[in-house]
Amino acid sequence: MIESRHADIAIIGAGPAGMAAAVRLAEAGVHPVLFDLNATPGGQIYRQLGNPQVGAGVMGEEYQHGRSLVEAFARADIDYRPLSRVWWIGRKGTGYDLGVVQHRAQSWHAERLILASGAMERGWPFPGWQLPGVMTAGAAQILLKQGALLPGVSPVLAGSGPLLYLLAWQYLQAGQPPALVLDLASASRYRALLRQPRRAWHGRNYLLKGVRMIAALRRAGVPVLLGVDGIQAEGREAVERVRYRHRGHWKTLPAALLLTHFGVVPEPQLARSLAIPHRWETGQQAFLPERSEVLAVEERLWVAGDGGGIGGAINAEREGRLAALEVLQSLAGKAQDGLARERAALQRARRRDLEARRLLETLFRLPGDWLEVQPEDTLVCRCESVSRGEVERAITQGAAGPNQLKAFTRCGMGPCQGRQCGESVARLLAHRTAQSMDAIGYYHIRPPVHSVTLGELAAQQET
Ligand SMILES: Cc1cc2nc3c(=O)[nH]c(=O)nc-3n(C[C@H](O)[C@H](O)[C@H](O)COP(=O)(O)OP(=O)(O)OC[C@H]3O[C@@H](n4cnc5c(N)ncnc54)[C@H](O)[C@@H]3O)c2cc1C
Repeated sequence: MIESRHADIAIIGAGPAGMAAAVRLAEAGVHPVLFDLNATPGGQIYRQLGNPQVGAGVMGEEYQHGRSLVEAFARADIDYRPLSRVWWIGRKGTGYDLGVVQHRAQSWHAERLILASGAMERGWPFPGWQLPGVMTAGAAQILLKQGALLPGVSPVLAGSGPLLYLLAWQYLQAGQPPALVLDLASASRYRALLRQPRRAWHGRNYLLKGVRMIAALRRAGVPVLLGVDGIQAEGREAVERVRYRHRGHWKTLPAALLLTHFGVVPEPQLARSLAIPHRWETGQQAFLPERSEVLAVEERLWVAGDGGGIGGAINAEREGRLAALEVLQSLAGKAQDGLARERAALQRARRRDLEARRLLETLFRLPGDWLEVQPEDTLVCRCESVSRGEVERAITQGAAGPNQLKAFTRCGMGPCQGRQCGESVARLLAHRTAQSMDAIGYYHIRPPVHSVTLGELAAQQET
């Protein structure tokens, strides 16, 4: 019989949240096991920071900020398991069973679990987004961080979100400026900003940073167009042209590489596969797992970092520490004075940060009616080639929710398991049936949440 390996505390994810949680636990003499998909710690933002591939001047100061955390993580006594993917998760007794693949399949049981699996880029359909030569800005940044890879051609960058400008700026520092930056945020953002002067004040540092990046790009001769409200990628085998609508006019530009970014949303699969309740958060335009003030979703399960709501790296680090304090208190079985003071300080700083970040939500808000105005043959699910028109027809034929739509059209059944189309399908349903996103909900997510081969399963061995 194959027995499960046992862990008092397991953490999923070695981004700022998971690393901070592990370091804080280790400081208290508690040694968690930590699973992470990547070969080195750091998560999305601090990817490869322990062995950087590009100069500090290219990546910017936020990247360097993670150095002390990555170093503390390397020193701490943690059972760190890189290159391991958690592909299923289930409740067992008072704890959790985990299916993990690290070269071969393993079964684990954890008494307490911190889910720090972070965020992913939002899937946002537009005509031609399935063409080779169209990829996300986040993916391009991974190539830069991990392999010092720059595109061989000047890319067009399009979308909405801080990462779009950050990547444009990083390419500029690396000596390969983009050809053009197209900002597709909602036109209503300026009105919204004027209505919220307090928000602008709290987030003034973000605002200044953005203004500086745009100024640097423009000084270098990179056009940055605000108020773009349409984008299309065209080409036969791969992207050859980008069309965009600016001030009511469509324009065409030859392009061999289009990098898009439409914000980040919590990576939903693990929390969803446990059927943790989620709610639609209008500010973030995303479904978030329901957490308590102290990040608990169940008595022995905490969600820390961007997986619980997009707050950025510093907030993720604070949430990781906060989750660790909750674990320590749960282990002690009673409230502890020292922990309470530390928790209060973390909560104060966290509230301040989150208030400031609201500005980004306003500035990079996406147009709510985007999907409905895209041509009917625009693919919503790229994996299974399901178009907006097919989704709409299935709704007309009676598909009442995302899961029925999946059965009618196969959308969400491909390799990404709905990560890229889940939100779009919910949006189309909400629009056509005049219901709220909460009423529509999301796909039921079932394991495997990551691919696992029969060979890996067959190689599972007794502990
Ligand atoms: C592609 C991308 C690039 C980004 N780049 C920047 C940037 O340059 N600057 C910036 O300020 N912000 C960036 N962000 C936002 C940034 O990721 C977050 O604010 C911050 O990293 C959140 O930290 P976290 O610890 O919550 O999650 P993350 O840093 O995302 O870490 C989560 C970790 O969990 C692991 N994981 C997820 N699922 C599993 C699983 N099933 N099994 C095992 N491990 C798993 C992931 O591999 C990852 O290492 C980026 C986001 C994305 C999606």
